[in-house]
Amino acid sequence: MTFQVTILGCSSARPTPSRHHTAHVLNVHEQFFLIDCGEGTQYQMARYGINPLKINAIFITHLHGDHVYGIFGLLSTMAMMGRQRALTIVAPRPFALMLEGHFSFFGIELPYPLEIREIDARLSAEVWSNRTMTVTSVPLRHRVPCCGYLFREREPGLNVYRHLVEGYGLDPLQVAALKRGEDAVLANGMPLTAAEATYRPYEARSYAFCSDTTASGKVASIVRGVDLLYHEATYLHADRALAEKTGHSTALQAARLAKKAGVHHLLLGHYSARYKELEPLLTEAQGEFPDTVLGRDGLVLTLEKDHSLKIGSI
Ligand SMILES: [Zn+2]
Ligand SMILES: [Zn+2]
Repeated sequence: MTFQVTILGCSSARPTPSRHHTAHVLNVHEQFFLIDCGEGTQYQMARYGINPLKINAIFITHLHGDHVYGIFGLLSTMAMMGRQRALTIVAPRPFALMLEGHFSFFGIELPYPLEIREIDARLSAEVWSNRTMTVTSVPLRHRVPCCGYLFREREPGLNVYRHLVEGYGLDPLQVAALKRGEDAVLANGMPLTAAEATYRPYEARSYAFCSDTTASGKVASIVRGVDLLYHEATYLHADRALAEKTGHSTALQAARLAKKAGVHHLLLGHYSARYKELEPLLTEAQGEFPDTVLGRDGLVLTLEKDHSLKIGSI
């Protein structure tokens, strides 16, 4: 039951040789979700072994080029790879208008159904769900309508204690009833309640993706207690005037928000190309919130069932 984030790009508006534009891939139980799609995202997917045909849905935070220019090539590549399965894109208005203009100009007709779900970036609401996960929008403060996304795994189903199955000789129907939360009746007529016979194998995990934003206290209440918070950290705090002017955050502001929201781990990204070395951003954030990870292209973060964070790279 995987819950894993792969970073495809950690740069802000201007990329560098080692930092591509923003895109993350979230793997929840082998269902793959692309979050933002900056220029070059499909190259990064090829580089890190992520098959575009496996993408279930795409979530776009806002219509700035460093978060969306990659969508045009990726959608065409999916067509060339023979995609037939429907694809959903969740994005703030007016994403559909932009995409229709592109399709119209180039005469593109995709061979697979495309559902565009436009949302109001000012609202926090459930914007997507299936049996495995729910996704809630997180209003952000930027120069254009912008929202983050909170991905929550659904509670896993109940398991029945093995020693009770064997000890009482429970049959498959009794086990199924207990897993549904219903009480069972034993062969001797005594009841066996679901409360005493079952347990939840692990607690649901969560990932919040907070894209371009001025540091906003309102965000803290929505992402409160999440396991992993990605928050942009475009600037060092010494450059906070620039952050304020451009609708971005500093590493220190990201860390303060993580602390205020009581999250378990903070992941930084969206760095300005002005910084050749990124460690000062990490040092700044860790001074306020020690459990901070410096996001980089190719980094893979796995949330284990015990909610610990395992960090690797491709
Ligand atoms: Zn950006
Ligand atoms: Zn932006």
